[in-house]
Amino acid sequence: MRTALAVFLAAALCSCATFFPQAAPVERTVAQALISDQEETQLGLQVHEQLTKESTKFLTNAKVSTYVDGIARRIVGGPDRDRANVPWKLFVIDDPKTANAFATPGGRIYVYTGLLLTARNEAEIAGVLGHEMGHVVARHTARQLVATKGIELAVGMALGREPNQIAALTAALAGKGTMLAYGREMEREADTYGVKYASAANYNPDALAQFFELLQSKGDTPELLAFLSTHPTSAERVKNIRATITQTGAKGTDLGADRLAAIRSEIAR
Ligand SMILES: [Zn+2]
Repeated sequence: MRTALAVFLAAALCSCATFFPQAAPVERTVAQALISDQEETQLGLQVHEQLTKESTKFLTNAKVSTYVDGIARRIVGGPDRDRANVPWKLFVIDDPKTANAFATPGGRIYVYTGLLLTARNEAEIAGVLGHEMGHVVARHTARQLVATKGIELAVGMALGREPNQIAALTAALAGKGTMLAYGREMEREADTYGVKYASAANYNPDALAQFFELLQSKGDTPELLAFLSTHPTSAERVKNIRATITQTGAKGTDLGADRLAAIRSEIAR
């Protein structure tokens, strides 16, 4: 019993130490102090209301949304270990012309049907979902707020003294993530989470790199522009993902191309 626990703890410590540098947890603590879990949930709800107001078309095909939900459920153990009590919710937006996905504070993940049509296998979708969950786990919205608005304004917002800024942030987040693009460092961090979470669920972690390569090769396709504007891909990013896989020994063999192929006919083009 004791041995098993010791092994488990060692494994847990190892994965933290090898996947991320020490600086990230400190930044996360600061971000948490600025925007509490409750405030994140509230912000996420406001964004969702805004999306509904903008008549965002959510998918009504239960077969497809259950399928995507199943991928999220398979990988969510990883995010839950890194940040407890996130009330994850997954939404599929019925928009085949947009190959994108984004996350809002409080754990709401939005996936466009265009992404499901672009991906070649389930592991690519799992990598993207893991990436988006990583943005939430690492509190990137709060961190981005500090980076772009300065600590003073961010604190004012957290204390409720800046209602106009909160409204602007909600609008920006609801702008399909296009206005609130994260910095290169945060994208890289989210990629590392994507690798970690996908591989922990036995998905092939290299699929995320392969998906970015696909986007790069078809970068001038209109459907892909949204994803590329919020997640600038580059050869460097692909290289970083592969370096992470090598350094951490992240494994995973499942691609699930057959399962995605089976559901594809259900997704309206
Ligand atoms: Zn991202």
